[in-house]
Amino acid sequence: MNDRLRELTTSPMLLAPNRVWRMYKGGAMIDRLKGVADPMDSEFPEEWVGSTVQASNPGTHYRQGEGLALISANIPEPVSIKTIVERYPEEILGAQHVKTYGTSSALLVKLLDAAERLIIHAHPTKAFAKDHLNSCFGKTEAWFVLETRPDVEEPYVLIAFKEDVPRQRYREMLNKQDINEMMRVMHRVPVKAGSVVYVKAGLPHAIGEGMFIVELQEPTDYSIILERSCSNYNFSVEESFLGLPQDLTLSTLDHRVYSPEEVQNELVIKPHVVRREGESTESRLLGYETTECFAGNRLEIVGEMSDATNGRYSVLIVLDGEGSLIHAHGEIALKRGTEVFVPASVGQYVFRSNKHLSVFKCLPAQA
Ligand SMILES: [Zn+2]
Repeated sequence: MNDRLRELTTSPMLLAPNRVWRMYKGGAMIDRLKGVADPMDSEFPEEWVGSTVQASNPGTHYRQGEGLALISANIPEPVSIKTIVERYPEEILGAQHVKTYGTSSALLVKLLDAAERLIIHAHPTKAFAKDHLNSCFGKTEAWFVLETRPDVEEPYVLIAFKEDVPRQRYREMLNKQDINEMMRVMHRVPVKAGSVVYVKAGLPHAIGEGMFIVELQEPTDYSIILERSCSNYNFSVEESFLGLPQDLTLSTLDHRVYSPEEVQNELVIKPHVVRREGESTESRLLGYETTECFAGNRLEIVGEMSDATNGRYSVLIVLDGEGSLIHAHGEIALKRGTEVFVPASVGQYVFRSNKHLSVFKCLPAQA
């Protein structure tokens, strides 16, 4: 088994499906992406892609191992990416990455399909996580909108305060759970397929209903619950503040007032093409010029396009089309919904498609 595992580290690895229970409903769009026969919304609206992070669902919904991605390979027992990383960190994550982050993957990738508006919440900053949660990571995240549901007329997200909200006043809104007022003091930003939103740790935020996104995050599951009721769960006050005193946790909430222009300039990110090869292109959707926490690229392949790991690992999600990924030891067939973990040691590889292939490439924190 060990030899077989070691051998696996030199090639891109297909990932098994990895749906995660959450407190809201959705997921039909993930089913559709993967070609499932009867796409359906359920209590499993997220797929954690290549994840090494345990989901910290509340109360009786906690399940050991939930969130950890397994590889789909011809091996006698299931193996998680986390196990492989811990056994062969440098081969999988890259030498420089391991120097900086140890055996942490320094990235969490999700497909998230929200049938309903998500609750207003926020995530701790790195500094807060270090001081109070014994973690090098907080949770900065970014949303890459793939599609919105046709029945939602004006898809939107809520993010950041648009007016001065003193901490005492916000505490009162929270205690009363005055959701209308909590929504009113935030920017409501219209989005559509292709929109990219940067959600800096500390900012209050919520995704509107009917959004299907790729979400990149720091590798934690810390949420500060500001709105305590959602369709599958009601949070107690104790569950809402990371197990810490309310005022301490709320001190990581970013009360900066953003103007609409600042939202558009700093939080809504414009993609740009970084590489062309024949008719193929690679675009940077959001990268290290915005945050050190992760980068997301989109490759549109027509015919062939070469790529390389350059000593870093990546997580790939095929968004459309079909083709293959050809590497030193073989070939992986790709189609809509295929997910692949590419270890740092893979080196050069090539995408090939007779027609067209659209691939989302996720890269971890800058090492
Ligand atoms: Zn969030």
